[in-house]
Amino acid sequence: MHEQYDPQKIEENAQKTWEEHACFQATEYTNKEKFYCLAMFPYPSGRLHMGHTRVYTIGDVISRYQRMLGKNVLQPMGWDGFGLPAENAAIQNKIPPAEWTYKNIGFMRNQMKRLGLGFDWSREITTCDPNYYRWEQWFFIKLYEKGFVYKKNAEVNWDPVDQTVLANEQVVDGRGWRSGALVERREIPQWFFKITAYADELLNDLDKLPGWPEQIKAMQKNWIGRSEGVEVNFTLSHNQNEHLTIFTTRPDTLFGVTYIAIAPQHELAKQAANTHPALQQFLHECKNIKVAEAELATLEKRGLPTGLTAVHPITHEPLPIWVANFVVMDYGAGAVMAVPAHDQRDFEFAQHYKLPIKQVILPADQSEWDFSKAAYVSPGELINSAQFTGLSSEKAAPQIITLLENHDKGKAKIHFRLRDWSISRQRYWGTPIPIINCATCGTVPVPEKDLPVILPEQVKFSGVTSPLKSMPEFYEIECPNCHQQATRETETFDTFFESSWYYARFACKKQETAMLDGRANYWLPVDQYIGGVEHAVMHLLYARFIHKALRDEGLVNHDEPFTRLLTQGHVLKDGTKMSKSKGNVVDPEMLTTRYGADTVRLFVIFAAPPEQNLEWSDSGVEGAYRFLKRLWAFGYEHKNAIMHQNHTYSTDKAIDWDHSDPKQRDILRQLYDILDQIKYDYERLQLNTVVSGCMKLLNLLTKVPEATDPDNDYQEYIIQQGMKMLLSVLSPIAPHMTHQLWQDLRFPGLLLNACWPKGNSIAFKQDEISLVVQINGKLRSRITVAADANQEIIEQTALTDDKVKQIMSGKIVKKCILVPGKLINIVI
Ligand SMILES: [Zn+2]
Repeated sequence: MHEQYDPQKIEENAQKTWEEHACFQATEYTNKEKFYCLAMFPYPSGRLHMGHTRVYTIGDVISRYQRMLGKNVLQPMGWDGFGLPAENAAIQNKIPPAEWTYKNIGFMRNQMKRLGLGFDWSREITTCDPNYYRWEQWFFIKLYEKGFVYKKNAEVNWDPVDQTVLANEQVVDGRGWRSGALVERREIPQWFFKITAYADELLNDLDKLPGWPEQIKAMQKNWIGRSEGVEVNFTLSHNQNEHLTIFTTRPDTLFGVTYIAIAPQHELAKQAANTHPALQQFLHECKNIKVAEAELATLEKRGLPTGLTAVHPITHEPLPIWVANFVVMDYGAGAVMAVPAHDQRDFEFAQHYKLPIKQVILPADQSEWDFSKAAYVSPGELINSAQFTGLSSEKAAPQIITLLENHDKGKAKIHFRLRDWSISRQRYWGTPIPIINCATCGTVPVPEKDLPVILPEQVKFSGVTSPLKSMPEFYEIECPNCHQQATRETETFDTFFESSWYYARFACKKQETAMLDGRANYWLPVDQYIGGVEHAVMHLLYARFIHKALRDEGLVNHDEPFTRLLTQGHVLKDGTKMSKSKGNVVDPEMLTTRYGADTVRLFVIFAAPPEQNLEWSDSGVEGAYRFLKRLWAFGYEHKNAIMHQNHTYSTDKAIDWDHSDPKQRDILRQLYDILDQIKYDYERLQLNTVVSGCMKLLNLLTKVPEATDPDNDYQEYIIQQGMKMLLSVLSPIAPHMTHQLWQDLRFPGLLLNACWPKGNSIAFKQDEISLVVQINGKLRSRITVAADANQEIIEQTALTDDKVKQIMSGKIVKKCILVPGKLINIVI
């Protein structure tokens, strides 16, 4: 054993041992309970950053802890290989995206290995590998055949810099999430997944996920956005055969409608514009309207009357139809029944254009509402509402719906905010959409025998347009139906498709003839999923949807893919998120080279609870390093004693506790108390306090006294037991140095295969407590009893105490009152 702590050498040896023994290769052939731990796989950007280091360390600590509990642990790793940065890098550096991506993967894999992360590399997945994405193409065709995929012309968010369509979720404050460019609106043909068919289930099944943070479930609920209401038909005055169908969640305000607002993209707006040059100009200006919903709320509300009117379904009053920039085509049918008295947005628009504001709801306390400043938006009591006047909003709503239904003017409807998932991307570096466009047959899926449609990897870029669009060798193809000349889709899937099922593919190692097999049902659902809160909506919702679609295809048999979810916080420096652009990046590799992987791991675990932000601190790293050096030095100092004890005693039972030193027993008891606390903290993933527990253990071990009776001195034994405990419980966090100390101190076997240390009841049984003995409430003596002694034994001990016997001198005991752990009062 070396006197000096040498992390580089120790870590290299430990990693070599684990690799030689294939320690992290998981198999399904075991009686152990399975535990599938997964941290979200990274985009291969080039180098690991501190955020990666943190999330993968957290996953590794959980995995190693579960392994100590005797579980059959799977912890795989892979690469979310497709995506824009590879393409941008290719355009800038003239390297094909594939080459750039695989080079980055090689580099990051080595960095992960250097951190001692116990991944099962035999299951590594790269999503840009045809062996992976061919099954995605296959599954897409299955969904296509079932009618869960469709193509339609849709207005999309167009990123003018990245030259691609963005999902609504990828538009942040009106800008592209990657490029930061102002997003435009464009209409192009798009492929969609019918995620809305699962809206109810995606919402309701959140209740099956008690292991998810409430905040994440709330975000998903909000995104799905279920609301109950009614679809109302407003007949057009100039054409009685046509009507606008408008959804509202407030049928109680129906009598307060004073105008109709439609989106600039609405067909009726386009029609009206034909004879209305000012309107035409306005529609043109609205083309590039920002669409993020948050922006809509603050957008300056502008509009123009179309000159058309619609008929109120009950009062038959004419309502002017306006084009308004705050109405979005995506939501509802691009038309709003405006109730300016009771909707703030409608109110602001009405004020600006001097449209009538008609109050139909009275505040519940019947107070006057000042309509010069704001709308009254809460429910209340109906006024100016014909036969419904006097009813509460709650009572009136269903009655108004019934009236509309009876007159064929509307019907009750459940509306979701969730839209179908647009999955086409106009970029090159993605999974080719396996569809052939034929002039005669329309869209034809690529026959299964012709899969995969391989993305050509040797390509030349000219500008940002996908090279596929200028590769006839790729897109010219015979139609599988009619054998005429046809063309392939040159668009690719949204990369969120790949990350929606990778967790299942990890379970089916080296499966080349099917997407998934029975092993998916052995490993799934993922027991612990870990990732950033920024994935709370898109990734998790898409993965839940695809999982349900896989289930309905008979490929998996659970409803939900992730049982327990941990969303870790960011790594901050000087209060802001580490990022290249802010120049506050700390390179984990530099730290590993300087202090070793164990120090880096210990620091990121100790510095903050996993779900909170971690504030970077150089002194914190130093502190972690000092603790490991102290532990090493302590092990070195006591090596002979520990090795000697290792072949003398195997358990506490071999010790003669009756004659042991109470101070020594007390230390042992404290060690077991801390062990219990550490176990509790591991279970609730309060990993930072696991480290504090380990520090307490080491402090205690430096304080084990010699016994007063040299024949019953268990100092060495307690140090050996404590060290065994400490190395075990610290090993998930600092696996290398604990591995080496375990070996050097001659503990049996590999620490990696050791079980979680047992708490020992012997120590507690032998532990004694001191009690005060009172007679008629007066302190008379003190006795020492076993901590778990029952009242009968305590009474006997008290009554046979010499001082007590003297005072009692034969008097009769009426009763004994015991205050556990404190005193016994003898009443005579
Ligand atoms: Zn054809």
